[in-house]
Order: sequence, then structure tokens, then C-alpha cells
Amino acid sequence: MTGKPSRFPLTLSSVVENKTRTPATRSGSGSPPATPTRTVITPQTATRNAAQDLNRQYSRPPAAGSTAKPVPRAAPGVIKAPAADRPTPLVSEAIRKAMVARVARQGVKDSKVLAAMEAVPRHLFMEPALASQAYIDASLPIGHHQTISQPYIVARMIEIMRANGKQGVLDRVLEIGTGCGYQAAVLSLVAKEVYSIERIKPLHELAKTNLRPLRIPNIRLHYGDGMLGLPQVAPFDGIILAAAGLEVPQALLEQLAIGGRLVAPVGARQQMLQLIQRVSKYEWTSDTLEECHFVPLRPGTV
Ligand code: SAH
Repeated sequence: MTGKPSRFPLTLSSVVENKTRTPATRSGSGSPPATPTRTVITPQTATRNAAQDLNRQYSRPPAAGSTAKPVPRAAPGVIKAPAADRPTPLVSEAIRKAMVARVARQGVKDSKVLAAMEAVPRHLFMEPALASQAYIDASLPIGHHQTISQPYIVARMIEIMRANGKQGVLDRVLEIGTGCGYQAAVLSLVAKEVYSIERIKPLHELAKTNLRPLRIPNIRLHYGDGMLGLPQVAPFDGIILAAAGLEVPQALLEQLAIGGRLVAPVGARQQMLQLIQRVSKYEWTSDTLEECHFVPLRPGTV
């Protein structure tokens, strides 16, 4: 699927094969049909935050029982909601199944990804006031001007990362932008080890609080600037950016394993999903896939 590889350092204008697909209906994006475009490199700058600020901090207390006697660890691939957080009828498994059916209609075909989406109780990653909206087709506020990503795009990015010619086997993956921890939980069902970095301390803590009761053994959360990646644990078979920069940080390209796949939104107001594959030590290819809408990738920590 790739053509002539790019030479290091990668220029994202080196799109070697463009793909077209019918874009899924996106809440709030009003996207025209995706037209493959050649990416132009511009300096990385902070861009306007597109997330809605509800001027409200996430105030969910730690899950009941999280300090109680240890519960047996869930086997990898199994996510159990603690009794105190069992879905209410409003956010039942049936509603989650309907969400997954919608994501499949929007074009996601990978059954392992769909199964993972069905297994993760998305409503547990939101503050209670928004839990009833957890399964709608939209990104929703999680505080600090950030959002939990829309179900379709979470599934789509993971599907793209898994299409690696190795039956989707992923040993180590990295997510930039943990937010509330939802996508990390989905990733934990398709990869052996998941590392996720968040630059906003209270969101890093929130993700810990959200994930703790789920007892997922293969997620490691890091507080830091994800633009620097995690060189101490690289290389990664897959990297997903949950925030959009004007270009993909060089450090992340270097931390991709040969044969690895990086999926990232790129752009400011107009953003496109990009797939970057590392084909050799000094060569990467880049494909522009479809329109998307993410909060901005920002440097440093807060
Ligand atoms: N993965 C989340 C989406 C979170 S929104 C989900 O499951 O829904 C994107 C997140 O990226 C925000 O929390 C934002 O703070 C974070 N972010 C932006 N720039 C970052 C950076 N340089 N390093 C780490 N996290 C970053």
C-alpha cells in the first residue's frame, strides 16, 4: 500500500499513497467527503482549543472499594466493572452494543476492535452528569478544556494501527493524550502493553482514578509531554495521538518500531488523520486518510 519511502528526517509532504473512503458522519464536524491531500509542513504551534469548556472540574470521587482488599486481577482481555459502578439501565450493555453497531455501520470492520469497544464501559470515564450521553456519537467534555474522543474515531484509529500485516498483533503501543483513560482501556484489549502519556496533571490523575477499579493489568500511565514520547520504553509497534499537531513530533517517529504504525490527527482547524509507517531505520511512509477533529497537541506539562 505504500510507495516510495521517505528519507529521515521524515517530511510529512511525502505522502506516497492517498486513500479515499466515505467519511462517517461526525458530530459537529460537518465534514465534506474526505479528499486525500498532500500535507504541508508548518511549524508546530499551539492552536485554539476546540473543546467545549464547561468551566467545571471533574469531581468524581475515587471508586468505592479502590483501597479495599485486593480483588483478583482480571485476565488480560477482560474488563470488569466493579459492583458500585455497574451500568444503570440508562447506560446498559444494550446501549453499548448499539454504539458498536453504529461504529460498524460507519465503516469500522475489525471485529477485535469492535469487541473491545463493546467490552469497555465508556460511561465510567465520564462524570456522572454526562454518563447518560456516554454512548452518543460525539466527543464530550472531561474538564480542563479537553474531551473524550468520539467512539467512531477511537475505533477507527485502533483499526488502522492494527492493520499491520501481522494479524494485528501488537506488543507495545503508546498513546499520546490519556485524557480520561478511555482509549487506553480499549487499547489494553488489543495490545500486550499500553503506555499512555498525559500532560495535564489532573487528567492524568483522573485517568488513574477511572482505570483503577477496572483492574487492567497492562496499562502504564505517564505524566509528561507526549511530544517527547517514552524513549526509555521505545520502540513501539503502534503509536496513537489523541491530539492534533501541525506535524507529528520527530521523537515519536524515531520511537516507532520498524514495521510499526503511527496514527495521528494533523492540522489546526482542518485536520486529517495520518498513518505513518516506519519501513526501515531511516525510512517512513505517510498516508493521509480522512478528516477528523481533535483538541490540540500542546508542548510541555501543566
Ligand atoms: N485518549 C482520550 C482523548 C483525550 S483528549 C480518550 O480516550 O478519549 C486529548 C488529550 O491529549 C488531552 O487530555 C490533552 O491534555 C492531551 N495532550 C495534548 N497535548 C499533549 C502532549 N504533548 N502530551 C500528552 N498529552 C497531551
